[in-house]
Amino acid sequence: MIIVLKQNVEADRQEQLIDWFKGLGLGVHVSDGQYQTVLGLVGDTSKVDSDLVASLDIVDSVKRVTETFKCANRKFHPDDTVITVRDVKLGGGHFATIAGPCSVESEEQIVGIAKAVKAAGADMLRGGAFKPRTSPYDFQGLKAEGIELLKIARQETGLPIVTEIMNITDLPLFDDVDVLQVGARNTQNFDLLKELGRTNKPILLKRGIAGTLKELLMSAEYIMANGNENVILCERGIRTYSDYFRNTLDLSAVPMLHELSHLPVIVDPSHATGMARMVPQMALAATAAGADGLIIEVHNDPPHALCDGAQSLRPEDFAKLAGKIKTVREAIR
Ligand code: PEP
Ligand code: MN
Repeated sequence: MIIVLKQNVEADRQEQLIDWFKGLGLGVHVSDGQYQTVLGLVGDTSKVDSDLVASLDIVDSVKRVTETFKCANRKFHPDDTVITVRDVKLGGGHFATIAGPCSVESEEQIVGIAKAVKAAGADMLRGGAFKPRTSPYDFQGLKAEGIELLKIARQETGLPIVTEIMNITDLPLFDDVDVLQVGARNTQNFDLLKELGRTNKPILLKRGIAGTLKELLMSAEYIMANGNENVILCERGIRTYSDYFRNTLDLSAVPMLHELSHLPVIVDPSHATGMARMVPQMALAATAAGADGLIIEVHNDPPHALCDGAQSLRPEDFAKLAGKIKTVREAIR
């Protein structure tokens, strides 16, 4: 249920109303927008007499929210959420590009790529330390050492770092990581999501390999219901019968997620296509579709990358793409 308050309601009257809802065992999500304050009630609202609430002099309107996602729902929070990562903003008109290798391989590799993508205008550095690989015989990542190397790259460039967490027990290793990624294989690892909800870290939540948008939003809800509202949604392609691509990039997810939710939406054209030569077109299309950012794999030596070389751009190609992204951004402004 959402309750839209009238304008300029005194703070103590608002607090009284909130306390009353809390006394009924409900969670109250307060969204202070530019023009209106919205109270979102979470929990069993069947005990709330909506006619009574609507009749209060400080209440403008009351609506039942039928969707199962509440905290992530735009009805609860009409304004776009802006996520701040160090001095980078993402969402609500702020666009950010995250670039870097699939996996951290060595200090020289990650620092070199970090410097190159920074020079090209990237806002954050990605790099996997814990890698979810289909085959147990493939490179599994440098793990804790990989995180340390990312921190060195951050120190060298100032770029905030984004890396994937696979297991709750590894959480202490991510204390000094700026954005924690939940990969497509873990989008419905609900215990992990709940634990991340108890942190205050920005979470980059990827859409599951065969995940619906509703499932993605419910996964975001797991994080948010536990207190962490810093969630970035990521469309990274879904499994279909398309034969030439690693996945199918569902670009229509971008405007639909924006309609349904206030959370920022970014696109990963690298995992969506699996092919470096397809990445620039899809990155530009995603920008045109209104994405709040992109996450793009970049490697200094793609043929010898330990993971996902085929879909990795060389730094010079990323630099060219970054210029075109700017042009598209200006065109749709
Ligand atoms: C990755 O970002 O390297 C990754 C494994 O992505 P996804 O979870 O989308 O497959
Ligand atoms: Mn990858």
